[in-house]
Amino acid sequence: MTPKERRDFIRRLPLADLHRHFDGSVRPETLWEMSEKYYSAVPGLDYEQFRHYLEWDDSVDKSLLDYLDKFHVPLQYTQFYDTIKRVAYELAEDAYADGIRLLELRTNPLIHRRAGLTTRQTIHATRKGLSKFVDTHPDFQAGIVVIAMRSHGGNMAKILLREVIGEKEEFHDNVGVIGFDIAGPEAPFPPILFGEAYDLAGRMGLKKTAHAGESEGPERIWEAIENLGPDRIGHGTSAGQDPELIKRLARDETYLEVCLSSNIQTGAVVDLKDHPLPRFLEAGVKVALCTDNPTVSNTTLTREYELAMDTFGFSESDVTELARMSCRGTFLAAGCGCDGKEKS
Ligand SMILES: [Zn+2]
Repeated sequence: MTPKERRDFIRRLPLADLHRHFDGSVRPETLWEMSEKYYSAVPGLDYEQFRHYLEWDDSVDKSLLDYLDKFHVPLQYTQFYDTIKRVAYELAEDAYADGIRLLELRTNPLIHRRAGLTTRQTIHATRKGLSKFVDTHPDFQAGIVVIAMRSHGGNMAKILLREVIGEKEEFHDNVGVIGFDIAGPEAPFPPILFGEAYDLAGRMGLKKTAHAGESEGPERIWEAIENLGPDRIGHGTSAGQDPELIKRLARDETYLEVCLSSNIQTGAVVDLKDHPLPRFLEAGVKVALCTDNPTVSNTTLTREYELAMDTFGFSESDVTELARMSCRGTFLAAGCGCDGKEKS
């Protein structure tokens, strides 16, 4: 297969992305346009230089701090209802063009409230942007996973949940909130702080995922399992260090949302060939291959599948199975509509 044939093959798979952050996936062109519109363009900065503030560049970017720096610029603009709605629509459009037919978009409403929007308004705008795309593309499914920042603590997480309940999927025709997540610095904010919030999320009928084992060791994943009862774990990379944990994840059918490029860039793994993904799959752990942040990581889901094939020697049937497994991990109430079907 030529690289082009392989890319076309991947794009025909029933692709699902279950771990994609709103603020890490905004189109650079849109932000550039907004920087001019809102008179905030830096004098003398051209588009290519501007993109550096948004996208990973292997030749200069090296650390977790370089990675986190890329999230600052978009937040100037994604503070307004119409901007959030537009970005959500474009995110769906970009995902669709990449071959994705099921997208779970995760967002932290609190970072989009600096111009006075309420938590619910930010989710409403996201929902409307996604549903505008879904309405005209019936073969595309989307849902929203709400993120609470670990650094805001457990009580804020509970308040956030109560604020977004009215935006749940079941109360709306097509797109709504389907899941709950925590993200941010792992070390000072262990899972036990969020036990009550996850209990509330469960009682509210939301599915549960949690970023864990990305910058910290496997003990944080154990703690997440024991305190949060997650259906999925975001990254879970350090589970690769603990055979007992791998067995437990496989036994419980707890999905790992694996994001290869992101893991290299943030230093969760040093060398991609040492990534535990093949060992997870061999042990029977459920895996969803995801992007995390396509703009920040300078990637696409197709590219992540190419990376998996290049690095681990996965065959066409291996990645077909991985795509189907990813799709089946969805939190959408309707389940995975694209599983097993040929894409149009
Ligand atoms: Zn993430």
